[in-house]
Amino acid sequence: FSSEKYAVKRKNFGILKSADVEYFKSVLSEDRVLTDESDVLPFNIDWIKNCRGQSKIVLKPKTTDEVSQILSYCNKNRLAVCPQGGNTGLVGGSVPVFDEIVINLVHMNKIISLDDISGALVCEAGCILENLDNYVRDHNLIMPLDLGAKGSCHIGGNISTNAGGLRLLRYGNLHGSVLGIEAVKADGTVVDCLRTLKKDNTGYHLKHLFIGSEGTLGVVTKVAIHCPALPKAVSLGFFGVENFENLLKLYKSAKSSLGEILSAFEMADNKSISLTVENCKLSNPIGDYPFYVLIETHGSDETHDSEKLNRFLSQEMESGLILDGTVTSEPAKIKNIWHIRESIAGAGLINGYVFKYDVSLPLRNYYDLVLTLRTRVGDRARVYGYGHVGDGNIHINVSASKYSKELYAILEPFIYEEVAKVGGSISAEHGVGFRKPQFIHYSKDKTALQLMRDLKQSMDPNGILNPYKVLPDVPDIEKD
Ligand code: FAD
Repeated sequence: FSSEKYAVKRKNFGILKSADVEYFKSVLSEDRVLTDESDVLPFNIDWIKNCRGQSKIVLKPKTTDEVSQILSYCNKNRLAVCPQGGNTGLVGGSVPVFDEIVINLVHMNKIISLDDISGALVCEAGCILENLDNYVRDHNLIMPLDLGAKGSCHIGGNISTNAGGLRLLRYGNLHGSVLGIEAVKADGTVVDCLRTLKKDNTGYHLKHLFIGSEGTLGVVTKVAIHCPALPKAVSLGFFGVENFENLLKLYKSAKSSLGEILSAFEMADNKSISLTVENCKLSNPIGDYPFYVLIETHGSDETHDSEKLNRFLSQEMESGLILDGTVTSEPAKIKNIWHIRESIAGAGLINGYVFKYDVSLPLRNYYDLVLTLRTRVGDRARVYGYGHVGDGNIHINVSASKYSKELYAILEPFIYEEVAKVGGSISAEHGVGFRKPQFIHYSKDKTALQLMRDLKQSMDPNGILNPYKVLPDVPDIEKD
């Protein structure tokens, strides 16, 4: 259990009684209240199988009103809850720590409206990202975000984690694309900020409170989001590069040569690709290189865009920045190359256990930590790095045959100290969740943390929403 593994003490919340279960059954239909241990188990375990909670009950509301009734009851009875979307989060935020009640939004999956002129999509929070993308594509639009977990993550989970993903470089983050939010506060109050306007400067921009707050300030129930136009032309380049210095030069050159059509610039080191290709039985379309770069363009003229990318390839092969590469506009080939990139996150799990770090670093220091960690970890585990270069966000994975306390102590807090030294962030996009509250001070100063506490106190005075997550206990932040 997470509580034992990370030595966390249960807070003074109510304990679920049979009368509570009866109440929930009266609000939801019986089949949407799970209490059987084997039914509840998958909702207690996170995607990387690092965190395991002890919840006895999963509630699956279908409407905002049901969420409101559940929260109002839980708040009155001091019952702690854990909001859950697709449970693909990577920092243990989506599963309970003790016996919190899981509120899973899977049944809130209706699309409410789509304005194909403005691009405003309104839907319920439990819609799966890939389903939304397929839906809006039929109307010549795309979702403004894309990530490896798209087949199971929910838009409400994406918003609650402020998910970044593969095309943030082009379409920006969710603080820019989310137009409005409906959320339920801890006491059951429904906060209606579900507007579809691009501009609305009427007072505080409250929707932003729910973007990235990881279920600690409210349960997101509906979402209005801006969908950009479906690009008429998509091209992809997959390149081999000699060293990280050349990779950075290539990034600079891609920005100026490809300009407005550049939609993704992703990197992976040799270990990331070789381990993924081997473990997932995939084939690498180019040879073996120290670094790999994946460049995607989204534009409106296929001939012009692929010519531009091919010209970039020839120019940079001549300059020596690209050692070898392939460029394609064929959807099947594009999918296969993206599949390699998207499989890296899960590939290491096949070897046993992966310690995952998702950090923002200044680009000049982007890869240094991987090298430092390799020396520090030695032959205890494989250390590899990949990520969204365009966003200064690297994912560092440390893959071992199993979880060990010794390796954990070698990695943490060392990694966070190193990140703080160069002014980086200890969480670029996965959030703080259960795994990082004790390290948040490396990226947030005391005054910022106090304001976070004040907001939490005002919106959830009993602390029932996702306890043990995001905010550290007070003594921790007072440490110098
Ligand atoms: P969950 O995992 O269920 O929950 C995540 C957090 O949000 C929890 O704290 C939970 O309490 C809260 N929450 C969920 N739904 C709600 C709601 N309706 N209201 C309030 N709180 C809620 N992340 C990225 O940012 N970029 C990536 O590129 C990326 N790639 C990934 C690739 C893979 C293969 C995997 C497994 C994960 C990846 N992730 C990535 C992490 C993860 O997919 C995202 O964090 C995603 O946004 C989580 O959505 P979810 O629905 O699964 O949320």
